[in-house]
Amino acid sequence: MNSCKRSLALLLTAASLLVSACHSAVPGGPPVAARAPLAQGQALADAAGIARVARQGSTVAENAHPLIDVIGGRMSGQPSGDLAQEFVRGRLAGYGLEEVRLERFPLLGWERGPAALVLQAPEALHGREISVLSLGHVGAATVTAPVLDAGHGTAEELAALGDRARGRIVLVRVGQPEGYGRSVHRTEKLTLAAAAGAVGFVMIAPEPGTLVQVGVATLGDEPAPIPAVAANFETGSWLLRILASAPGPVVAGLTTGNRMGPAEAANVLGDLRGTSGETVLAGAHLDSWDLGTGALDNGSGTLVVMEAARILSAHVLRTGEQPRRTIRFALWMGEELGLYGSRFHVAEALRRGTLDEYRAVLNLDMVGAPVGFGAMDRPEAAAALRPLIHELRAAGFALDTAVATGGGLYSDHQPFLLEGIPILSMQSRLKEGAGRFYHSAGDTRDKIDEADLGEAAAAVAGLLWYLATAPDLPLPRWTPAETGRRLERMGLRDPLERGGEWRWE
Ligand SMILES: [Zn+2]
Repeated sequence: MNSCKRSLALLLTAASLLVSACHSAVPGGPPVAARAPLAQGQALADAAGIARVARQGSTVAENAHPLIDVIGGRMSGQPSGDLAQEFVRGRLAGYGLEEVRLERFPLLGWERGPAALVLQAPEALHGREISVLSLGHVGAATVTAPVLDAGHGTAEELAALGDRARGRIVLVRVGQPEGYGRSVHRTEKLTLAAAAGAVGFVMIAPEPGTLVQVGVATLGDEPAPIPAVAANFETGSWLLRILASAPGPVVAGLTTGNRMGPAEAANVLGDLRGTSGETVLAGAHLDSWDLGTGALDNGSGTLVVMEAARILSAHVLRTGEQPRRTIRFALWMGEELGLYGSRFHVAEALRRGTLDEYRAVLNLDMVGAPVGFGAMDRPEAAAALRPLIHELRAAGFALDTAVATGGGLYSDHQPFLLEGIPILSMQSRLKEGAGRFYHSAGDTRDKIDEADLGEAAAAVAGLLWYLATAPDLPLPRWTPAETGRRLERMGLRDPLERGGEWRWE
């Protein structure tokens, strides 16, 4: 797993950045003194004040260059991922955070190799090669089989195909049919297709003008059950037309040559220690895909968490104030290959009996200009956050007064959500046209707006300071039974069942 494709020169450049990150350390500030607990009004005013000052300038661009342009695509368990971990660790230590640490965990590592889809029939198209890229956790395999259009690959569509999917390479569009009611993740579709007997899986991008979009094929430690690749919209649409017009079977050979094996990566954690045993956490995944340089997904969230850490650490060092609750900053690895880092962290906290300290978890995955806050299935958060939103609006942030309460899966909040811990998010507006480059070679630094990310970091810093200092934080952890009810209400039972993670009744 460890073959390093990057040049030595690049490694040296990045290594020197690590050194300079360490040398630019903020000198140790005054010792932090415990103060009398803040009143709610003071907590609000302080949080808004921190955000107001922070939005006047950020260091996001200074970190964006080394993280995104130089280190680039940050695959977990590969040299690029290790460099990213060390870079962030150096920065967080430099900001003056306490207990900056690497939390190592094992994962099923994956390294891209060649992938090919070549038509064998009809005769007129024999040998025609279709441009595809492997999904993650797909190994090395070769299959030759007739190709079948499986629509969006939902449970209903595969059921309607009955036995016809058996022994076929299925073509599956990203997304779900119009009016389907919930989103269906690629991992669900692949599980369903393999269960229906398909021997190959080709995922087609949802809109024209995009590059090939990849993603992981399975969310656990199991390799993908069948070879799975992705094609862009235009290539996929062409193949669908060939399929619709061919009088006989369309047969293709699908070959993947990826490498998989045990690997190790590490979450990067750092704290601003509080006076109570409670903790609020702000996290973002640091890893990305190997295509592009992981700018939007999730350099953006990483830069916002790092900047919020810098802002709040500087505040603590300058004022000597200590928050009531510990503020923990977490840069997770292994997200793209199946939420490995956050799952490991939650499992460790459960094992040690410390998970209950988490009073709120803010997850930042693909961030743009801040437009509001969210709290998954927590209508009570609207009342709790309304005064803060009011103050932040007064400080110049264009935030929606409503708090979004929808729920979802497939990012690092998921392991915490399944334990009933309050999940907060920042609603944001991505740079125009950038979202379509997600998980593709087009996810490069031009897809993020660093001024927007500075603004987002300022709002996040305000939110975190408020969550960490408000005397009253009326966001209770759900009991296990209540968690099951809420997940069902959010429409998450089906996908959790398919992922083997539904553990209620
Ligand atoms: Zn992401």
